[in-house]
Amino acid sequence: MSKKIKKKNKQSKQTTRDFPAIVPESLIRQAAAFTAPRGRLEMGGLLIGHVDEQGHNVAVTGLFPEQLKESSGYCEFDGMWTALVAAACDHANQIGDEAVPKVRIIGWIHTHPDIGIFLSGIDVTTFRALRDATPDRRLMAVVVDPLREENGVFLTERQPNDYASAKGTVSLSSELETRYMAMLDRLEAIRNFRGLAALPCILAGPLRHRRLLQGVRDDAGIEMERGFFAAKREIHTMQLEMKELRTQISNLESLRHSQTRHQSDLKRLESELLPLTKRLSKLEEDQRATNEATQKSRSILHRLIQILRGKPSQQ
Ligand SMILES: [Zn+2]
Repeated sequence: MSKKIKKKNKQSKQTTRDFPAIVPESLIRQAAAFTAPRGRLEMGGLLIGHVDEQGHNVAVTGLFPEQLKESSGYCEFDGMWTALVAAACDHANQIGDEAVPKVRIIGWIHTHPDIGIFLSGIDVTTFRALRDATPDRRLMAVVVDPLREENGVFLTERQPNDYASAKGTVSLSSELETRYMAMLDRLEAIRNFRGLAALPCILAGPLRHRRLLQGVRDDAGIEMERGFFAAKREIHTMQLEMKELRTQISNLESLRHSQTRHQSDLKRLESELLPLTKRLSKLEEDQRATNEATQKSRSILHRLIQILRGKPSQQ
């Protein structure tokens, strides 16, 4: 959340006016698209803009250089980028006449992935140092939460909880647009010289389509597409897991049904078995009685035979 900065000159605080800001949503969308795939790692960069006729600080483009330190809660980039960007702006400002607004560093942007919009204590210190190092104190702070899709534009470090969402449209005269294009060309040249890792993202803001027509690398678009395919893969995996879960649930349900059916079958069998058991004991009782009667008949017959033969009974 901090940015390495050398205090060039300690600015007196006579200028305390907080300049109204215009930040087009396209710029925020591109910043969010580029930083969202980084998950919870914070990223910081610079916004480049101009001062319009009404005195607004207007952010138009920006950049995210390589981060010296990055974590969830802290990020830092090399202070040399302030000088490099200022030099690119100076180069562009040589084009056209004095009446055309000068392109310049107009803001500090950093991300707060999934922690929401506010200025932390370190942010306030960094923002103050950056404004002190800006001769006319015309510098805004923009915080983007790419995961919650929220953003906030802070006009001053003195009110760290006072912000508005990015809004406003930018209309550029053709002369001013030419300056912006020249500045962006210079940033591309710096990237060609230092490598993609040193300057991974140039945000063209409302000029993105014009830059695309020129065939420059579309940093935000590439990450947006990567993010889209990552989300698509995640959805596909979730769908497979849901299908598997549905099958498991259906198996469990049919198991429960068959268990219930078995229980009711068992009850029916038990109720059918009861009269059969009763019937069986009755039959056993009858059989016992029949056996006893047969035994008695046999004994009487035996005695009769002996009497008929004239033998005395042995019993
Ligand atoms: Zn912060």
